Amino acid sequence: MSKVAVRGTLLDCISNPWDCAQEKQALRFIPDGVLVVEDGKIVESGASSEILVKHPEAQVEDFSGYLIVPGFVDVHLHYAQTRIIGSFGRQLLEWLQTYTFPEELKFTSKDYADEVAAVFFQEMFKNGTTTVQSFATTHPNSVVAFFEEARRQGALALCGLTGIDREGTAPDAYRDTPQGFYDGSKELLERFHQVDRCLYSIAPRFAFGSTHEQLKMAGRLAEEHPDCWIQTHLSENPAEVASVLEFFPDCQDYLGVYEKYGLVRKRFVAGHSIYLSEDEFRRMGDADASVAFCPASNLFLGSGFFQWDRANHFGVRWGLGCDSGGGNTLSALRTLDDAYKVGMLQVVTSDREKDEESLRLSASKALYAATLGSARCLDLEQEIGNFEKGKWADFVILDTGGSSVLEFRKNGARPSDSLEDACHQFFGMMMLWVPEVIRATFCKGRRVFG
Ligand SMILES: [Zn+2]
Repeated sequence: MSKVAVRGTLLDCISNPWDCAQEKQALRFIPDGVLVVEDGKIVESGASSEILVKHPEAQVEDFSGYLIVPGFVDVHLHYAQTRIIGSFGRQLLEWLQTYTFPEELKFTSKDYADEVAAVFFQEMFKNGTTTVQSFATTHPNSVVAFFEEARRQGALALCGLTGIDREGTAPDAYRDTPQGFYDGSKELLERFHQVDRCLYSIAPRFAFGSTHEQLKMAGRLAEEHPDCWIQTHLSENPAEVASVLEFFPDCQDYLGVYEKYGLVRKRFVAGHSIYLSEDEFRRMGDADASVAFCPASNLFLGSGFFQWDRANHFGVRWGLGCDSGGGNTLSALRTLDDAYKVGMLQVVTSDREKDEESLRLSASKALYAATLGSARCLDLEQEIGNFEKGKWADFVILDTGGSSVLEFRKNGARPSDSLEDACHQFFGMMMLWVPEVIRATFCKGRRVFG
């Protein structure tokens, strides 16, 4: 592939703003910058006045006036629920029975799975997301379709066969068996893990839906494949938490169930983690495990508020997930809008001891959460998350004046005028999101949208 120089205002994170004395220190801002891309990777980035002369053969793609940020990283969603996104009126357990399982049962058909996977990746790119960790269903076809489409599109994609075998928690036709889950996962893992940009996530859906025998199999897979990811759900909804404690009376708490089977380790990514005790947060941090924060879903399903100030306090890495279809959006920017409001509601309403400053999701913290923070959550910061040389060339071109009100709010300023203007405009796009703010999306240096 020939060398390309993409020019515009570059904004990325080089460290965690929650850890910086001044959070802006976490940002790298280059008003007239350029990303040099070759063979899908970033060869160099910096000020165009310095970089362009070093690469005279590069073909320039000029996005002057636009803001260029790293591709968004979504650490938790369900691609198989793309068609039931925005379903009315149920909390988690009822919502699963009413909408989710009937839809996910259709993924016995490879053709159906192919159709949804193709739509799903197009929608991701339209929203600027270039890395996804997704659940599939209990049918191997659902995983095959997902990885095949990811390979076609060049997206960085994590996925795995869903495990759910407990009687009464899902329709009989949907449930698998401990051995079926083990064998199916093993076969898919051997076929797709580390092929192109596909990575395998061992995926027991949640302790609510898995028996002791199935979680034992998940633990065996995790032990046999320490380089694989583990994704599941943890402490999402009070009714779910209560049932899990009944199903596993020998475990002290919800996290204790996953610990019992050896799943809680680096690359363990637990969706939601809303009702964790201080001790569970501490143990997550000690194990170097991660949380997927899914604010759109937590609000849409009425699940509750993730306390990221406590996660930060205990050194628990967390990333951002839209959790479609429990979340009513596929947009990372829209998800940040909800994340901001979850933080603000806790500042105002919660009487627990809290770090108010930490809970105010500024533009730099939000950008971090959707890019480098989520890359770290997935233990993929060596490959994605910012514009460091050698990383994948996954990035989004943002039109900060994508609607009349966004343009009006800019008050004549361009994103290149100052870091403050760039942050003000990024925050504006979060809070007043419209599809038009995504001008183009590049995956592995290839334009996949716009
Ligand atoms: Zn989920």
